[in-house]
Amino acid sequence: MTTDKITSGLELPIMESYFTIQGEGYHSGKPAFFIRTGGCDVGCHWCDTKDSWPIEGHPVLSIEKIVEATLQSGAESAVITGGEPVMYNLAPLTELFLSKNIKVHIETSGAYELTGFWDWICLSPKKTVPPHDGIHERANELKIIVHNNDDFEWAEEHAKKVGKACKLFLQPEWGVAEEMIPKIIDYIKANQEWAISLQSHKYLGIP
Ligand code: SF4
Repeated sequence: MTTDKITSGLELPIMESYFTIQGEGYHSGKPAFFIRTGGCDVGCHWCDTKDSWPIEGHPVLSIEKIVEATLQSGAESAVITGGEPVMYNLAPLTELFLSKNIKVHIETSGAYELTGFWDWICLSPKKTVPPHDGIHERANELKIIVHNNDDFEWAEEHAKKVGKACKLFLQPEWGVAEEMIPKIIDYIKANQEWAISLQSHKYLGIP
């Protein structure tokens, strides 16, 4: 179902979009318009948005409609998430956001080459499909989902590749949060360049 307009980035499959509060990472607590692209082939077994995996079945929207919905919401920034947004050419969408003075952030595993112009890049590497070359240097934030003890080593492996200014976060995977939060706290006390990220939107009961 990938059309020429999707390939060129003029249209994108969009699973959902909504104005809410960013729940995770560096911008946690700040309002943003979330745009969730449809399609992801990374396959994290603990994924909490498995409905986003197929490309088919999501409405295909023009980038003008996507930006218009953001403007109508009144949000001053947009977060492009997924699914896996870097499956798509995001240059036209981000250029349009730039022209409207809307800040645009991305949350990605980095599984494909990153396109577009970003105010904030949150890289969250996944073991099933590790990040594409070149994205670590561009990341403003590294967010590692901690599902088991091996993930601390995985976190350090990626922390070595990001720039000095990149913010480092460890976030418990929701299904094992009770078990992993104490381990993350101990780890951060011993490795103070890291901070904890909680999925605060889930505690608040908002999307
Ligand atoms: S990359 Fe994100 S959307 Fe894709 S499977 Fe992993 S957690 Fe789910």
